[in-house]
Parts: sequence; structure tokens; C-alpha cells
Amino acid sequence: LRRRVLSTDELVDGVLAGDRTILSRAITLVESRNPGHFEQAQAVLARLMPHTGGAHRIGITGVPGVGKSTFIEAFGKNLTRAGKKVAVLAVDPTSARSGGSILGDKTRMNELSIDPNAYIRPSPSSGYLGGVNRMTRETILLCEAAGFDVVLVETVGAGQSETMVAQMTDFFLVLMLPGAGDELQGIKKGVLEIADLIAVNKADADPAKAREAKREYSSALRILQPTSKHWRPQSVMVSALINDGLDNIWDLINQHRVVMEKEGEFAAKRARQQRDWMWTMLRDRLLETFTHRDDVASRLSALETDVLAGTTNPTAAVEELLGLIKTNPAQT
Ligand code: GDP
Repeated sequence: LRRRVLSTDELVDGVLAGDRTILSRAITLVESRNPGHFEQAQAVLARLMPHTGGAHRIGITGVPGVGKSTFIEAFGKNLTRAGKKVAVLAVDPTSARSGGSILGDKTRMNELSIDPNAYIRPSPSSGYLGGVNRMTRETILLCEAAGFDVVLVETVGAGQSETMVAQMTDFFLVLMLPGAGDELQGIKKGVLEIADLIAVNKADADPAKAREAKREYSSALRILQPTSKHWRPQSVMVSALINDGLDNIWDLINQHRVVMEKEGEFAAKRARQQRDWMWTMLRDRLLETFTHRDDVASRLSALETDVLAGTTNPTAAVEELLGLIKTNPAQT
């Protein structure tokens, strides 16, 4: 099974049977850059599509060191103990650039990684956000077809990847450290706008400081536009290390779901995500096709150098590149 190329039928049947070796193979196919693999992956996904959508998709973010893996380990164990099947996916677009991944290191979640009802998949190392976006969405679908009830998508607190994960999940949880004061002024503001819940972690270490942080985040959340008119994001204190407050988070996530379903927002959000994904994919595929044309590829880096040097302006460079389509419409 390891080496042999699996047929589309074998992949589809294996995933539907919840076979994790085959699930891993299907995910590897989705992550492959080989054009032949791309076609097979799309064929597998098309057949599995009717079996997708069943999981509660939860995004989790926070800066390195906030306690994401500790949290996911404890939270995931709580869920599997309650009889749920849990998949953990990581999104770390920095991993390809830095050579080392901050996320998805299996050894960080010792217990969960050997739990028969959990499945942990490290971040694809495609290197560009668009690629990681597609791969992660497709991996969520594969996990759903394999019967997982909850999909946790973990991302490191770094700009665009957070927005991307928020856009592919039903609920977005932001973990924060106590001692928030200064952070509020800076980059953390953007992430507050997409949070459905803020959890101040490590409350055991310094309860007073954690309470203060919780208060600050609560008042910051009050002045922001809520993620939905039926849901007011709040902030809570937790301690992942001693599994304190994690059940409360699961309760809040479920309350959110009940309200969203009742108001019709759950389905509407998923539908919107599908539409956004269509546009993202179209943009990526067009750009990929375009930049791989021979005539474009051969001019691209020279024009980039000229723009950097100031000898060509961006508009002129783009005009020249797009002009190549008119000169030679047939080339792909
Ligand atoms: P990540 O980088 O966000 O995945 O963070 P980790 O889960 O690796 O945690 C970073 C450090 O914080 C580790 O030494 C953890 O043991 C510690 N830690 C995580 N959660 C808690 C907590 O609730 N309380 C305390 N005191 N320490 C914690």
C-alpha cells in the first residue's frame, strides 16, 4: 500500500471507510504539485463531495507560545472522550520559507497523536498562501468524508493566514496571553475583528493578570463590529495546561452553532465560503496558468528587476505582460 499508486476507486472507498492510511494518501495527493496528481485529486474530491460538510469546523489561532498545541491536545482529548472523532490540521505558510514549521509537529500533541479517534496532519509546505488555502480546504473535505465530527484548523498568529482560516471555518477562536495591554494597540486589532471568541490562556500562572486581560479584550470587542448580529464575541479565561475552562469553550462553540443555524446564518456562511473559494481558486489558477506561459515566464523576472530598479513602472510592466496574451492568444 505504501508504494503502490492507488486508483481513484481505492482512494474514494478508503476515505469513506475512515481508513487513515488512505486518508493520508488522499491528502498527499491534494498537496502534490504534479499535474497528474491534481487531476486525480479533483476526481476523488468530486466523488466524495456528497459526503462532506458534516464536521464542525473550528479555527484556532494565537502567537507562538500562547499554548495552541497544549490547548488542542487537551481540547481534542475532551472531545474524543465524549465520543467525537477529531481531525487537527495546521496552516503555517511560514514553514516553507523558514524551512522549519512552527506548527503541525506531531510530537507536540503526544496523547492526541496516538488517540485512535484523532487524526493530526501537519501544514502543507507549498510556500504560497493560495496553495495552502486550496489544500487546507480540500483536506477539510477529505476529513469530513472520512467521518470526522470536528475539524480543528490551527494557524500561527501571522496576518493573512488567520483571515484565511477564519474564512474556511464555522467558528474562529483566538488564544491570547495575559498581559495584553500593549498588543491591543498593534497588529492584534485585526484578529479581534474576526474572532468569535477570545480565550486568555495560562490563567493559572497569573490569575490577576489574566482577569485584567480578559477585561481589556471584552471592552475592545464591545467597540468592534460583531462577526454576526446574532453573536456577540466575548472573552474568557482558560488554562489549557490544567484543562480548566475548555468545556466552557466547547459549550460556547455549540451555543454559537445553535444560534447560527436557527437564524439561517450557518448555511449562509458556508454558501458564502464556497463562493469566495471559487473566486480564490479562479484567481490562483489564472495567475498560475498565466505566469507559466513561456513568453510570460521569460519576461517576468526581467520586468520585476526593472520595476525594483525604477527603470520601469508597474503599470507598464503589467501592460507588457498582458499584451503577450494578444500577441499569442493560443499559448497556455
Ligand atoms: P504554541 O506555540 O502556541 O503551540 O504553545 P505551546 O502549547 O507549545 O505552549 C507553550 C508553553 O506554554 C509550553 O511550555 C506550555 O507548557 C505552556 N502552557 C501552555 N498552556 C499553558 C497554561 O494554560 N498554563 C501554563 N502555566 N502554561 C501553559
